[in-house]
Amino acid sequence: MEALEQKAVIERMKKTAKEIEPELVRIRHELHQYPELGIELPKTHEIISRELKKIPGLEVYEHKAGGSGIVAVMKGGRSEGKTILLRADIDALPIEENLELDYKSKNTGCMHACGHDGHATWIIGAAKILSDIREEWGGCIKFVFQPGEEVGKGADTLIGEDKVLENPSVDMAFAAHGWPSVESGKIGIARRYAFGCVGTFKVKVIGRKGHASWPEQTIDPIAAAGEIYQHIPAILARKIRGTDSKIMSVTYMQAGDVNVRNIIPETCEFGGTMRATKRETLEKMGEELQKEAKAVCEVYGASCEVDVQIHGGSVENSQDLLDGVKNAAAEVLGSRQVYIIEEDNLGGENFAEYSSRVPSVYMFIGIRPVEKEEIPGLHSPDYRFDDDVLAGAAGAFAAIGYYGCMGRLERR
Ligand SMILES: [Zn+2]
Ligand SMILES: [Zn+2]
Repeated sequence: MEALEQKAVIERMKKTAKEIEPELVRIRHELHQYPELGIELPKTHEIISRELKKIPGLEVYEHKAGGSGIVAVMKGGRSEGKTILLRADIDALPIEENLELDYKSKNTGCMHACGHDGHATWIIGAAKILSDIREEWGGCIKFVFQPGEEVGKGADTLIGEDKVLENPSVDMAFAAHGWPSVESGKIGIARRYAFGCVGTFKVKVIGRKGHASWPEQTIDPIAAAGEIYQHIPAILARKIRGTDSKIMSVTYMQAGDVNVRNIIPETCEFGGTMRATKRETLEKMGEELQKEAKAVCEVYGASCEVDVQIHGGSVENSQDLLDGVKNAAAEVLGSRQVYIIEEDNLGGENFAEYSSRVPSVYMFIGIRPVEKEEIPGLHSPDYRFDDDVLAGAAGAFAAIGYYGCMGRLERR
């Protein structure tokens, strides 16, 4: 009987999702025209708040996250249930839009090139759908619109100052990114790590400047830095456990003066980004880099400064919720449309602030139209979000919220 009831509720959610589709496309296009950067997004805040205030049963709390964040809270009509958090990031990027769309960005040099306009819209859509079936569920759903994701901010303030995980305390959290490598209409969910732990490093080798004709009288920092650079693959392959996913990429190297060919310079500096699924792995990579740099510099008689910064944690999907989320999304999209991605992804997402505190699942929602083999990637000036996926994504989030509140997502 209960299962039958739930089926009927899901059918109603799918119907509502279809009905609100034109409205969702309109909202997404409006957000797309006013992309804003960082934490202060006044126009984005205005559009999202305005839309949320139209939804029955939603309490809207504005100006959160130390800027333009919004937290909207909805309570279900039944007596009890869990508390679920659904999060959208809402900021844009300093990129000039290349496409000639009729809803093209009106802010020069600024573009929703990561599709966060779509993320905000599908969470607004989920709120609309869950409002329509409010009598069918109990508990509480918090719809969180977070600025600052691209600059690694927002989540910490929402959690630390705005206490978004408390009152009532959040049992589980969910988020998604529009994903160019996943086909539209499908959702991929990482088996374990949806995003990696992100770090940066910098190695500065200090030698002794001198005439390039008598290198023996100098200490060549370029030679030493080059050797340290060459040892990076060995650090990863020989010092870090083989089963740990990790990346260390040098993105710049600087030394000398292009106009001076007869002087060996004083210093050579290089740096880049490093990623791993576990914070401990990243810490170990930093330590090993430091040791290697010191050892090489000793041979050369140079000295070095190594700086390693680790920013936040990884986004690890809860093993307890994985199947429940997959099944909930599949009820809306179809069972063959939702699948598990076995490999880890090492991109960065500050959803880690939530997922390190409460059980969470992060999904990759397909945005690549079926007829296309490849589309421009995230952060490309040619990036294009697929409007056709908005209703399905809103429905999937609504189903996750509904089953989550009812305590139906956890593994039994
Ligand atoms: Zn991005
Ligand atoms: Zn993004």
